[in-house]
Amino acid sequence: MSGKFEQIGRALREHQTFAVLSHVRPDGDALGSQLALGLSLRQLGKNVHIWNEEGMLEKYSFLPQASLLTKPPAQPQDVDVVIALDTAIQNRLGITVAAIKSAKLWINIDHHPSNPGYGDVVYIDPKSPATGQILFELMPNQKLPIDSAFAENLYVAISTETGSFQYPNTTARTFEIAAELVGAGVDVGRVSQLTYENYPRRRVELLRDLLGTMRFDANGRVASFSLSQAMAKKLGVLPEDNEGLIDHLRAIRGVIVAIFFEELPDGKVRVSMRSKSERVNVCAICEKFGGGGHVLAAGARVKGTLAEVEKKILEEVCDAVSRSS
Ligand code: AMP
Ligand code: MN
Repeated sequence: MSGKFEQIGRALREHQTFAVLSHVRPDGDALGSQLALGLSLRQLGKNVHIWNEEGMLEKYSFLPQASLLTKPPAQPQDVDVVIALDTAIQNRLGITVAAIKSAKLWINIDHHPSNPGYGDVVYIDPKSPATGQILFELMPNQKLPIDSAFAENLYVAISTETGSFQYPNTTARTFEIAAELVGAGVDVGRVSQLTYENYPRRRVELLRDLLGTMRFDANGRVASFSLSQAMAKKLGVLPEDNEGLIDHLRAIRGVIVAIFFEELPDGKVRVSMRSKSERVNVCAICEKFGGGGHVLAAGARVKGTLAEVEKKILEEVCDAVSRSS
């Protein structure tokens, strides 16, 4: 670990212009990690672009220095170093890649086991519950600056990616880091309220409609619901509204796999999966459909109508669940 950290630390110190990128449909770990690393590099006096295909999401706009994170420019730029965070496959960086005219070095920092290791300097720790946790290990280790804004961004990254410190990949180390972040100035009550108790009403209206489509398969071990384009249009939902809604299915007793199907405008369906058992590897299932992720949380974008994709995926999942018991 320390050799790789040394290499990354040296690259961060020695170069001047950076682009910090992360995946499309960003979550708290993506945005919080991008801002935290970007802020630290700015404190070192570096020129830093923090770009995400979607720019800053409304619901994470409370993050310290959120306005530094923007959509990429139309005009490609020359940078010294590109840092891809939390992004399992390079094409999930979306249109941000087109904004890089040239780069001397690509650094890939991630916690997805399915990450193939693209880039020149690669640090992947699949045991880490969040990319934010890796950054916390890296930055102080390399004597890179951290402050309260850095701490709050990382706290949100880790809190959201661990389901508020509940998922099984949450370790003693995660709590130690959380304690250090609180020590560095994070106001837990305030940040938690902004993260988890500040949803727009349309998100709950969306949940109401989704629950209307809820179905169970494999004797209640598989639960799923679906969002059609028509439903999304009627409610005026934003893509960011559905982060975390799948947890309502996961929370049901007896459910092993929860699935969220979302019809996209491009003739594909976004499939999101959660597993409550190591014996049902949803990453392996999603990889069959060109996606990836983690053993217990994965996703894919599958071509077809909602009905076609539901049928194909449910067959695979029910099969995997039956084989596991
Ligand atoms: P989500 O269900 O979107 O929260 O994603 C759960 C996990 O699966 C995340 O760790 C994602 O990185 C991964 N994932 C989601 N969608 C895809 C995809 N289309 N391809 C590869 N990995 C994905
Ligand atoms: Mn992520």
